[in-house]
Amino acid sequence: MSSHPAVPIQILQEVFGYPAFRGAQADIVDHVVAAGDALVLMPTGGGKSLCYQIPAIARHRTGQGVTVVVSPLIALMHDQVGALEEAGVHAAFLNSTLSSDQASHVEREMMGGRLVMLYAAPERITNPRFLAQLDSLYERGLLSLFAIDEAHCVSQWGHDFRSEYLALSLLHERYPEVPRIALTATADELTRADIIERLRLEEARIFISSFDRPNIRYAIVEKDKPREQLLRFIQDEHADDAGVVYCQSRKKVEETAAWLEAEGIKALPYHAGLDAAVRQRHQDRFLREDSIVMVATIAFGMGIDKPDVRFVAHLDLPKNIESYYQETGRAGRDGAAADAWMTYGLADVVNQRRMIDESPAGEEFKKGQRGKLDALLALAEATDCRRVRLLSYFGEMSTACGNCDNCLVPPATWDGTDAARKLLSCIYRFHQNGGQRFGAGHLIDVLRGKVTDKVTQYGHQTLSTWAIGADLPETQWRAVLRQLIALGHVFTEGEYQTLALADSARSVLKGEVQLLLRVPSVAPKKGKLSRGGSKPGGSGRSTAPVDLDEAAQARFEQLKAWRAEVAKEHGLPAYVIFQNVTLAEMARQQPQSLDELGQISGVGAKKLEAYGAEILRVLDDA
Ligand code: ADP
Ligand code: ZN
Repeated sequence: MSSHPAVPIQILQEVFGYPAFRGAQADIVDHVVAAGDALVLMPTGGGKSLCYQIPAIARHRTGQGVTVVVSPLIALMHDQVGALEEAGVHAAFLNSTLSSDQASHVEREMMGGRLVMLYAAPERITNPRFLAQLDSLYERGLLSLFAIDEAHCVSQWGHDFRSEYLALSLLHERYPEVPRIALTATADELTRADIIERLRLEEARIFISSFDRPNIRYAIVEKDKPREQLLRFIQDEHADDAGVVYCQSRKKVEETAAWLEAEGIKALPYHAGLDAAVRQRHQDRFLREDSIVMVATIAFGMGIDKPDVRFVAHLDLPKNIESYYQETGRAGRDGAAADAWMTYGLADVVNQRRMIDESPAGEEFKKGQRGKLDALLALAEATDCRRVRLLSYFGEMSTACGNCDNCLVPPATWDGTDAARKLLSCIYRFHQNGGQRFGAGHLIDVLRGKVTDKVTQYGHQTLSTWAIGADLPETQWRAVLRQLIALGHVFTEGEYQTLALADSARSVLKGEVQLLLRVPSVAPKKGKLSRGGSKPGGSGRSTAPVDLDEAAQARFEQLKAWRAEVAKEHGLPAYVIFQNVTLAEMARQQPQSLDELGQISGVGAKKLEAYGAEILRVLDDA
């Protein structure tokens, strides 16, 4: 392989077929090629893989041997390695899914220093036999680099803690001469400090990228009939697209998947309660087929590097902003337009508060959790740019983005101060009137003057707050209550989620606090999305990564059909062969020669050699 250049930019062009590095990639690669340690914080889709793959190739070409990539995601190693082999890079993985014959073959390739990259799960690093092999490579100068992917797994603060990651500190002690690069998409400071300490990366240079994902459009809609809202969203904006729908419970995952399926959407469930084989099958289908909607709990997602997930939808509120950011970040890795869409309602606020209250954790921890939830609620209730708020949570300043729901259709606001006072007084009257507490439904009935059995039973027609809010519809009252709970002026208690006043309610009652509220979206009756169609560039937004005319679109479809066959033959996801962006460029440019084809971003030397002629033929026939 010595005839190949070891210059990073040349490797990028030759092997991956990309014309230029993105953002900090070039600096990171140079630093690591020169044997520096690095900690890379980059959002999902930012291009972390190349940050270690290119140094691995460069260092292998200069005789420095094997890069060991530590990754927790056994289920994905096969595809990751497949993608490298497709690009002509000799890579392999060692994990429990291999037969002993297969494993010995990989070990021979590794020990001979022929492998460029070896993927391994963290538990293997503490396996004595494996360590002995690394020792031998090290002594012969053939242990080139350690890449620690998903490095936040070492932190107990993060959401994906894996105790096996703690053992990775031994890499530095045992192989002090071998550079290490750790990578994560987790942005918060606590996790970062943890990674540095536990992986002994005190000397590492830290590379922090902006966490903005400009191609993701954020939207948070008021929950009305959530399933129908979801269906409408998918049908209007993402027919035939791949997407993920997050739900909190396993039961809801299954029900929602079954319901979408019945409505004609290709949907599959995924949660930790499913058989491992079923989970793997569903994940494989999601990765390999074009337009599967995965309905899942948060058990699904880490490391799913499918580039063309066009939307992530939340039917339930995530735990906090970090989770929201991680989960929505799985959309649009390829840089093409994608949606992060969430429905959000009163019950979400109540449930999340209750989960914190009822958790066995200590008071200090709960306080932290509540603070984080509040920040998320503020994001959900915001009337200004969602992205500005999201980024500012991660310490980044920005200006209104023009690509979130609030920027595109600024929500109307109304002064809810008066309504809030009426609502609070009503809770107060309940309490005075016999110390009883009630839930949201009854409260709103009383405010609106709706006679029910309960009203009669408790004689609530006689309260001074009876029917004082008949002028506002129920949805609006729910919104007022939701925001009062979100702001902490009202809290809920006990099995029946009855309402009680917090001390801070007094300031609202006295009129010292003004409440500017979003006007609830209008007429969501028959499950119609309020913003359906009215959004500029909204419905009908092309899901093709570049705009194609009709003839080019036809060529694109032909190329996709060809790709599907190749992918199937190779047992790999389609995007590993070529990504949609690359196929779309081929369809648009209609290259006439191998030379022209090779100029297209994403077409490296090996793929040109393997597929070039066939692609030209497909384009010719189309
Ligand atoms: P991450 O691991 O940070 O989520 P990936 O490494 O999967 O991101 O990269 C995201 C996408 O961007 C991939 O489809 C990858 O091929 C593409 N990509 C990364 N770097 C470049 C580049 N320099 N030029 C073109 N595409 C790139
Ligand atoms: Zn915005």
